[in-house]
Amino acid sequence: MTDQLRPDISGLTPDALEAWVTERGEPAYRARQIADAVWNDGGVTDAEAMRTLPAGLRTAVGGSFRLDTVGDTELRLADSGQTEKALHRLDDGALIESVLMHYPARAGSRERHTLCISSQAGCAVGCPFCATGELGFGRDLEVAEIVDQARQAQRRLGADGKRLTNIVFMGMGEPLLNLDRVLESVEALNDPRRFGLGARHITVSTSGVVPGIRRLTALGPQFTLAVSLHAGRDALRDVLVPLNRRWPVAEVVDAARDHGRSTGRRISYEVTMIGGVNDTPEDAQAIVDLLRGDHAHVNLIPMNPVAHTPWQASPMPVIEAFAATLREAGIGTTIRRNRGQEVGAACGQLAAERAGEPPAPAVARRRQRLEVASAAALRGDRSDEPVPAGVLGAAGE
Ligand code: SAH
Ligand code: SF4
Repeated sequence: MTDQLRPDISGLTPDALEAWVTERGEPAYRARQIADAVWNDGGVTDAEAMRTLPAGLRTAVGGSFRLDTVGDTELRLADSGQTEKALHRLDDGALIESVLMHYPARAGSRERHTLCISSQAGCAVGCPFCATGELGFGRDLEVAEIVDQARQAQRRLGADGKRLTNIVFMGMGEPLLNLDRVLESVEALNDPRRFGLGARHITVSTSGVVPGIRRLTALGPQFTLAVSLHAGRDALRDVLVPLNRRWPVAEVVDAARDHGRSTGRRISYEVTMIGGVNDTPEDAQAIVDLLRGDHAHVNLIPMNPVAHTPWQASPMPVIEAFAATLREAGIGTTIRRNRGQEVGAACGQLAAERAGEPPAPAVARRRQRLEVASAAALRGDRSDEPVPAGVLGAAGE
């Protein structure tokens, strides 16, 4: 039997595992022992290491299931070892990335270990400042491929006696366009019988898939929602987040507000700061108009330089002035430092590097198109380009 045909053990629900165990005539407590071996401290990747099981059952587990989907991983360290970037090669050759970031304890906050994980290989949304967006859509990840990124990081941390404290869906892909599998994954990561991380410590970041936000809210637990806002004006957001042509920014903020109300959680908004594009006083005011009075927090992130855009990060004084406008309106705002730039830790950069350089004329055309589109947006003209192919079907509408 080839590996692809064996189900992935970390993609199974506890009920499915118990059914497998009892079908074999084994007592139900064996399912608990298997789950412990899969999940405790990141778990094992070889059935022979499941020492609590009798030899026959170990062999059956190994023959029936695949125990790891991200075994082929290349690690790169940055920020003096505080950032660990993992490039995972999946079974079919698809490349995805996860990034583990260590934050030392500071006055008022404990030490944190945050893992940024991918939900898709590539992304259909096509935000022009994002390396993953430029790669285009590859495929949706399976539940096991998503949660195995977390199991692997926990094994590395566990070797030093540490625990993963936060998981953010801010790697490659638009999580809410791989909705069913992402919802199953957050349940597995949250379930005390499986990964066991508190819902508040799991953040799903979205570029604004409104029906997906509503389904996440309907799940119930207090998962944290982060919305990639980037612009408060539709004309500009149409260019920076092409999904905006389907779900305009006011609808996205409405859905996020409802999530905040129903979970009691503060909503995070991310704004990638692009010099001369979305960092003007009018842009700050547009965000104030959208969010005033909400239980919201805004993170301003200087754009990580990616290869094929005409753009750069906004200068720090401009970002500070932008932050001041938001704060004066009572909106909590922080400026976030980029992590791991020297290893290309902006989402999708390593995979893009491996994909190779596109032909020079295509790059030049892309740069020119973006310059024209952002200049038109700054004048307030809305783009009439269609919504990116593949996005609507994937949203399951
Ligand atoms: N697709 C989801 C989650 C993955 S992207 C989303 O868009 O929210 C995670 C975050 O990285 C997003 O806020 C995205 O805007 C940001 N990002 C992408 N490329 C970036 C770059 N070059 N510089 C800074 N932030 C970037
Ligand atoms: Fe996709 Fe998010 Fe990148 Fe946009 S920023 S292209 S939604 S991964």
